[in-house]
Amino acid sequence: MRHLEDGFGRRFPYVRLSVTEACNFRCTYCLPNGYRKSAPHDFLSVDEIARLVRALRSMGVQKVRLTGGEPSVRQDLTKVIAAVADAGVEKIALTTNGWTLARRIEAWAAAGLTHLNVSIDSLDQKTFAAITGHNRLAEVLDGVERATQSGVHTKLNAVLLRNTLGDGFEEFASFIQFRHISVRFIELMRTGDNTAYFQAQHVSGSTLVDWLAARGWSPVARAADAGPAIEYAHPDYHGRFGIIAPYAPGFCDSCNRLRVTARGKLRLCLFGEGGVDLRDLLRNEGQTDALIERVNAALSGKVRGHGLASGQYGDTRQLAEVGG
Ligand code: SAM
Ligand code: SF4
Repeated sequence: MRHLEDGFGRRFPYVRLSVTEACNFRCTYCLPNGYRKSAPHDFLSVDEIARLVRALRSMGVQKVRLTGGEPSVRQDLTKVIAAVADAGVEKIALTTNGWTLARRIEAWAAAGLTHLNVSIDSLDQKTFAAITGHNRLAEVLDGVERATQSGVHTKLNAVLLRNTLGDGFEEFASFIQFRHISVRFIELMRTGDNTAYFQAQHVSGSTLVDWLAARGWSPVARAADAGPAIEYAHPDYHGRFGIIAPYAPGFCDSCNRLRVTARGKLRLCLFGEGGVDLRDLLRNEGQTDALIERVNAALSGKVRGHGLASGQYGDTRQLAEVGG
């Protein structure tokens, strides 16, 4: 099978596809004032997504993660999932804030969803509400319970914030003690819109790593098409902790993923600039070869690593815009 490869020999079996820029939460680090529509909502249609994913599948892509914005604000999300499944992708993942999870997980699972990440930054109701702008922790957790029963492989995402250290880790540890579920902390990333917040709230991923090491958790091996998390297991716990630390040295060496925005731009790095427009090749059938050629040409320009450590965070204003 053909595959996507860049100039550093890295392969890309994993694509993160944003399906909308819109969101119904107001996470303090992402959209603190809520989503404001700044351009028409002409996001990729189900047919365009199907063409894109079929082409990527022929280039060895095995895993597609649907993200946003909040993917579940799209009424046709179930059809999007089905289109990705029809293209023959093995792992179909969704990242969601869980707003509609309890009501929709069964339909998503029936359409072919295999993996789910639910973003929950705190298991404390008040803290959750303060971060997201919505007092909905109980509903989101109900959705997580239903997702685990539906057979969809479910993980939690939490952003590592200065405000939620300590007790926050203990609460998640209790939550996963008897549940086969991973909670992965993402180190807060600086974007164009969150500079002051970043300076106040950023803590190094090593804070969690040290906390885990002191309590007997050990790192486990990473699968070839896995995301960027390093996971930790403990004999007394069914679940796992994970850490995604983009500021750690060597983070980009194992990069295995590409991004496509909700408007059909290929982004080679979350913290890059611009992007390569694919949309003109998605509007009609019969453009697969041209599409593959354009993606390959772009890949030859993928740089070795992001410049976050030196304060270069590209033109991403917030992650909702490009698909986090
Ligand atoms: N709305 C969905 C959600 O929140 O799960 C999907 C999109 S969101 C941009 C994807 C992930 O990025 C979420 O887990 C969110 O917490 C995380 N995220 C957003 N902004 C971030 C930032 N500045 N630093 C680290 N993680 C961030
Ligand atoms: Fe919305 Fe996700 Fe950003 Fe929160 S992190 S504001 S849920 S896009």
